[in-house]
Amino acid sequence: MKIICTRCKTVMGEQKPYKDSTEIKATCTACIEKAKEEAARFVPEPEPRDGQEITLENGLKGTLWVAKDKKGKLSFGEMVVSGKKFYCLSNGREKFQAYLGGLTGEEADVSLLHSITCKIDPPLRGRRKKQDPPKTEEPKKDESIHYNCTIRVPKHYIQLMFDDMAERMDKVAKILAEAVLKTYREESKTAQLSLDKP
Ligand SMILES: [Zn+2]
Repeated sequence: MKIICTRCKTVMGEQKPYKDSTEIKATCTACIEKAKEEAARFVPEPEPRDGQEITLENGLKGTLWVAKDKKGKLSFGEMVVSGKKFYCLSNGREKFQAYLGGLTGEEADVSLLHSITCKIDPPLRGRRKKQDPPKTEEPKKDESIHYNCTIRVPKHYIQLMFDDMAERMDKVAKILAEAVLKTYREESKTAQLSLDKP
């Protein structure tokens, strides 16, 4: 009887009775490794493009755009409503609400940070034209690309977005504060212990 790999049909071995032509199905180590590799393969999402239209988790459609300068680079927790930037924290809610109320129309544009991708320098040698002067070392710039997403939504929805983000930011702030407190407590405990030692 032959032991055959079901995937690649390699004969892995033989066993008694040798005259029996029945195949014993198995998987060879190479195929097991290959299957593992395939399962672990990372399939990244397609890279965002400038001007790309995307559908957000909540079904809203937005447009992606690249932040060209420092001002346009938003961080998590920030929100631009009709051109004004806000940092979403619950203690800024009233101010935000007043601003939103002062806007004309039922809808407004909201921009949020969508994603950040890291740019890898393309090989210069192949791309540089002959007449270009040789490149001198430039100071390292921030190579990341910030993609923002802009959506047009009803004003009441913008308030919900702010509240949702503020809640998350408050949680983050709380976690950070707790971590600091914990470290402080542990440190003072250690200090106390070393003081207690005779
Ligand atoms: Zn195989």
